[in-house]
Amino acid sequence: MTSDKLNWLTTEIQSLKDQGLFNTIRTIGSAQGAWIIVDGKQVLNFCSNNYLGLADHPKLKAAAQQAITKYGVGPAAVRSIAGTLDLHLELEKRLAKFKGVDDALYVQSGFTANQAAIGPLVGKEDVLFTDRLNHASIIDGCRLSGAKILIYDHCDPDSADKLIKENLAQYRRGLLITDGVFSMDGDVAPLDKLYEVAEKYGVMTMVDDAHGEGVLGHGGRGIVDHFGLHGKFDIEITTFSKAFGVVGGAIAGKQVIVDYLRQRARPFLFSSAVTAADTAACLAAIDLLEASTELVDRMWANTQLFKAEMQKLGFNTGRSETPITPVLLGENQVAQQFSRKLFEHNLFAMPIVFPTVPRGTARIRVMISAAHSASDLEQGLEAFQKAGKELGVI
Ligand SMILES: *Cc1c(COP(=O)(O)O)cnc(C)c1O
Repeated sequence: MTSDKLNWLTTEIQSLKDQGLFNTIRTIGSAQGAWIIVDGKQVLNFCSNNYLGLADHPKLKAAAQQAITKYGVGPAAVRSIAGTLDLHLELEKRLAKFKGVDDALYVQSGFTANQAAIGPLVGKEDVLFTDRLNHASIIDGCRLSGAKILIYDHCDPDSADKLIKENLAQYRRGLLITDGVFSMDGDVAPLDKLYEVAEKYGVMTMVDDAHGEGVLGHGGRGIVDHFGLHGKFDIEITTFSKAFGVVGGAIAGKQVIVDYLRQRARPFLFSSAVTAADTAACLAAIDLLEASTELVDRMWANTQLFKAEMQKLGFNTGRSETPITPVLLGENQVAQQFSRKLFEHNLFAMPIVFPTVPRGTARIRVMISAAHSASDLEQGLEAFQKAGKELGVI
């Protein structure tokens, strides 16, 4: 029997179920790729962040295996005590070179990177200017810092300008933070304009490049490269778990910032290092990206084809400018039904519902990858067309 003090949880769970908001998590039984085994069934995968197909790439797997042979499996320490491997330092140097920044600090995840970066830079006497739709890990990082949080309108430099002008003087210093690519809509922050605004007032700048890394810019060098802002944005947050196909995160940017975070970033000081296997796989990913733009180019060609065909079929793909393709459906229940229909047609794409996105904007979020072949895309479009007709969406 559940004790009385926990009854509220049963009520909460039932309420989520009644509202169609209870998330039933599916189980994957294979490596990530264009086709995967989900709950025992082989389906076309349209919803993982494996943009370039690197999650199951032979070169990354070989690098990880060799690293295990040499270094074993566990780090056995935090980076600042006995956990810093030569591989970690090599990855930090290589990432910095790839992105055209001074240096980088490698941490356990992109989520962690936001928590690691924000707290040391601002505190109670300071102020954060943050986009209304920033990622949960940015929001949590902001809250943990104890600084005042002021929210500007989504992707709106004028709104940011007004907010900074009216408030900055009451604080010691300010930091403007934006997602680069917004993960639910696939739209891109106006980084050049935000930079101009922040620079005008002497506010520090930070961009989370989780969905831009390996996607935007020359050969996937990220959003700062896309806008030609090298050396201007103070901090870039990177994840190795999306286009890079592995796991881990980094804070990249100016030397003085990385030097300071190495002394102060709490996840770096108090949580164990990333494993050698993951680190070696990340290095192999950078090797591949530096050697050729082929994968990035293929991902973009797939994206353009898929989006154009979806629009021809009559679907609303919102304001996306990237491979993140929201298929807007409205109510939560419709998106959930749609996802189940797609699964019947052998396509795996999860619904995204409130509170992850605003009410009335429930959607299927499609993630296009270089791993998809022409026939995969064709089959995917067919599944969308069938499900769309069956549910009266198109
Ligand atoms: C996915 C994501 C993260 C988290 O990255 P992980 O490496 O998976 O922890 C952080 N920020 C943004 C904007 C993301 O989309």
